[in-house]
Amino acid sequence: MRAVAALGGNAFAARGSALTMEGQFRYARDALRQLGPLFEPGVDLLLTHGNGPQVGHELVRVERAQGEAYTLPLDVCVAETQGELGYVLCRTLRDLFEGDRRARPVASLVTQVEVDPGDPAFAAPTKPVGPVLDEAQAAALQARGVVVREDAGRGLRRVVPSPEPLRVVETDVIRALLGLGVAVVAAGGGGVPVARVGGALQGVEAVVDKDLTAALLADALQADLLLILTDVPCACTDYRTPREQPLGPITAGRARELLRQGHFAPGSMAPKVEACARFAARPGRRAAICDLPHLAGALRGEAGTVITAS
Ligand code: ADP
Ligand code: MG
Repeated sequence: MRAVAALGGNAFAARGSALTMEGQFRYARDALRQLGPLFEPGVDLLLTHGNGPQVGHELVRVERAQGEAYTLPLDVCVAETQGELGYVLCRTLRDLFEGDRRARPVASLVTQVEVDPGDPAFAAPTKPVGPVLDEAQAAALQARGVVVREDAGRGLRRVVPSPEPLRVVETDVIRALLGLGVAVVAAGGGGVPVARVGGALQGVEAVVDKDLTAALLADALQADLLLILTDVPCACTDYRTPREQPLGPITAGRARELLRQGHFAPGSMAPKVEACARFAARPGRRAAICDLPHLAGALRGEAGTVITAS
């Protein structure tokens, strides 16, 4: 069995709570312990993770250090968070399963994801990144060509394009590591976005959705299972309305229909359902959206939103 599991931001902190390094290790330990079933012998495991809050803090460090430390473009900030969270996950994993039948080598990989420089997303940035800005900070960033916009109810934030992932550059390396029995942490934050310009890959100012990259990787690695682990037990139709209904097992076709009807919020649940519908379009594959306490149930097909071809 080969599984790709994508951990949401809640694996590193409770929603809205302050990030600390100590807290991230603590949350990661708790999350990884709940992933226990995926570490059983006979399961190849690729772990990926979000990085929204961490990259936000990295951008704050970059801004505050202007003039004193060299600046870091967004692709490098993503790479830095892959390093940070790869370290958190690998150190925690090693420690957690040491001497256990689930002990196995672990490695985290700085991972690039190729996007099309002509992707329409570049003409219409939509993804808020970094902290809420005051007027002066917003003006200073705009003077440097950065796009700033009102983020629904929160305030002014920088927005960047969120292009489609085309290819994970290190797919072959990941496949080889999985074949050696290594648990791999890769494509954190959706991958470091790069685009082919004049024959060479270059970093781009963009953020790729981690759930879409997870689906792409799961497909390329011919995984059997794509697990999207977040902070809700399942996807719902008519979310946060009096008609709200939890979604149990559905087909990829039905998932697409519900996507078209607008049941899932863009930027949060919609890319998860889209990722699952893409991956599970092929027979024999299973995708699931759930929270960590429902993982075991989702693996048995009794909890979470489970998406299959038919
Ligand atoms: P993650 O860090 O796991 O990617 P996100 O915030 O991106 O987390 O996505 C999970 C959130 O999606 C949930 O906390 C929930 O509030 C929200 N959400 C939006 N639409 C729906 C829906 N239709 N059903 C369930 N949750 C939804
Ligand atoms: Mg998300």
